[in-house]
Amino acid sequence: MGIIIKTASEIEAMREAGRISAMVLRKAGRLVQPGISTLEIDEFVEAEIRAAGGIPAFKGYAGFPGSICASVNEQVVHGIPSAHVVLKDGDILSIDTGAIVDGWVGDNAWTYPVGNVPPEKKRLLRVTEECMWAGISAARPGNRLGDIGHAVQSLAEREGYGVVREYVGHGIGRAMHEEPNVPNYGHRHTGIVLQPGMVLAIEPMINMGTRKTRPMPDGWLVVTKDGKPSAHFEKTVAITEDGPVVLTEEPDYKRPVD
Ligand code: MG
Repeated sequence: MGIIIKTASEIEAMREAGRISAMVLRKAGRLVQPGISTLEIDEFVEAEIRAAGGIPAFKGYAGFPGSICASVNEQVVHGIPSAHVVLKDGDILSIDTGAIVDGWVGDNAWTYPVGNVPPEKKRLLRVTEECMWAGISAARPGNRLGDIGHAVQSLAEREGYGVVREYVGHGIGRAMHEEPNVPNYGHRHTGIVLQPGMVLAIEPMINMGTRKTRPMPDGWLVVTKDGKPSAHFEKTVAITEDGPVVLTEEPDYKRPVD
């Protein structure tokens, strides 16, 4: 199949899927508090995506039952939303979600603190978000794929964290997962040359302890091998002549002053 290069007008069209994906993720984040179940958040997200004119990109994907992946604490990715998973003070929750609009897919994730979170978890969240921005900033024409992975890995490992290898970012467009794979590890100046028109989901998954993971018997959920917490941040990014452009954002959104 190869890497599908998008035209400028196709990238424009992808902004609407990105905007709705970002909007529902932000609103879902406002629900995160002790006592709510991940199924309640999932149902909210599905309703919001549909009300905005989109289709939940995750629901039914390879048989996945939810509109979000909800992964708590040592859960790395792909947690199935459940009425039995009720958030507690001090947890961290990764919400990964996306919308399909006019056939284009948006994909994004954020890890939220639940109530009062201990400092070591706060640091994991802060550093993993920084890893994502470092990866995004390396997504520019003339760089290579390995520059993205290197940017993420060097920052995470400097902080003593483990970089997940088994799950990676990806190209995205009319399909949620397109070529290329976008690893969160790698060497500078290696891999394919990045070109304008590539659209990538950049999504570091960073563990407080070992990088090693373990798949769970439900066939979806992935946890850290040592049981220590893991964080996950993701944005859909277009590579343009002028550098990286985040598509999963809300250009019209004004953050309330608090
Ligand atoms: Mg993704």
